[in-house]
Amino acid sequence: MTDYHVHTPLCHHAIGDPAEYVSAAQRMGLDEIGFADHNPMPEPFDDWRMLIDDLPRYIAMVDRVRSMGTTIRLGLECDYIAGQEKWIETLAQKADWDYLIGSVHYIAPGWDVDNPKHLSRFSNGSVDDIWNLYWKQYVRCIESGLFDFVAHPDLVKKFGHRPSGDLRRYYEPAVSALAKHNVAFEINTAGLRKPAGEIYPEPEFIKLAREAGVPMLINSDAHAPEEVGYNFDSARAAARAAGYATTVRFERRKRIEVTL
Ligand code: ZN
Ligand code: FE
Ligand code: FE
Ligand code: ZN
Repeated sequence: MTDYHVHTPLCHHAIGDPAEYVSAAQRMGLDEIGFADHNPMPEPFDDWRMLIDDLPRYIAMVDRVRSMGTTIRLGLECDYIAGQEKWIETLAQKADWDYLIGSVHYIAPGWDVDNPKHLSRFSNGSVDDIWNLYWKQYVRCIESGLFDFVAHPDLVKKFGHRPSGDLRRYYEPAVSALAKHNVAFEINTAGLRKPAGEIYPEPEFIKLAREAGVPMLINSDAHAPEEVGYNFDSARAAARAAGYATTVRFERRKRIEVTL
């Protein structure tokens, strides 16, 4: 197993030295750990990502733990923001990344949908509209072709809000885009620690992705060392229940399929 989505304190809302994350991965028996902190923006943007001036420090911090005896991967969790594609292309040139993760947190300017400060926007029967906005951005994120895999597919359910009816109307366009653009997705166990109390994404999404032949990997989105490999047993069970027998690893942006 690997865990390719762990953070560092450079994003200002994660704790623990990278060495502690690597030790945790070793205790869990993981084969590889990959750091993927929140990407910097060219200008000050919000208070929960690394600063552009810290990018060299981030790369050096990850380099420093390579001596610990576990395979270390270097990644970045990049916010997909329509119109900012050029910046991601610039970032892609700034290091020998093993992978770039595409995430949708912002569904409109200044509105990060997983931020509790915007929770009140879910009232007044707006859940369908918010889901529409979110999944439209998610499809664009996949179609951008900028990313090796996409993060926490149904993050929009974080606080437990979901529209009524068959939710495949949201999942199907995303799964089609993944298949068409040859992009993988993660099963992310952080949702189990959030009000939703569930893995991202839903079993139904995982099943559709499996049927479409979309590659998958399991990640924790750890923001503290003790969250590395968090609940991977249930994530693996969910993947197997959907029919997955393989997962993928990344090296210098090359995807490698391995047995799950
Ligand atoms: Zn974070
Ligand atoms: Fe995220
Ligand atoms: Fe993350
Ligand atoms: Zn995340």
